[in-house]
Amino acid sequence: MLISETRKNLINEAYRIQCEQSNLYPLDVIRVCELYGAKYHEDNLPSKIDGIYIVSNKNTPHIIINKKNSVNRKRFSCSHEIGHLLLANMGYSKEAVFLDTFQDISTNPAERLCNQFAANLLMPEKQIRAYYSELRIYNIGYILLVY
Ligand SMILES: [Zn+2]
Repeated sequence: MLISETRKNLINEAYRIQCEQSNLYPLDVIRVCELYGAKYHEDNLPSKIDGIYIVSNKNTPHIIINKKNSVNRKRFSCSHEIGHLLLANMGYSKEAVFLDTFQDISTNPAERLCNQFAANLLMPEKQIRAYYSELRIYNIGYILLVY
């Protein structure tokens, strides 16, 4: 499968998940893990590791997040690891283990796809644009009220 096609499929899946979760924000990424049959864990990982995606010998995907990271970092890392799960489901990658660090994520195409998926899952373009439009309308109305 081509990277561009895989990217499009991942972004469509992010949008589908948002719609299925009734556009509730912030999105409950742990619940999204469970929807895909993955087990979510937090653990004291070495500080340079943000998250791990691993498939057990019982074929159960596990997402392990560094509990020392901030809540927002954990949400992004979890979303990124869900991206690995989806890539495996799409047949794009066969690896059963990914150790994710901040340093090595930009060079590997699979890591970049997972980052794009995570960004789209947490900050969906359609909703952000709609929200931004609302803000602009509100600000214009506020300016008209003041002047
Ligand atoms: Zn990764």
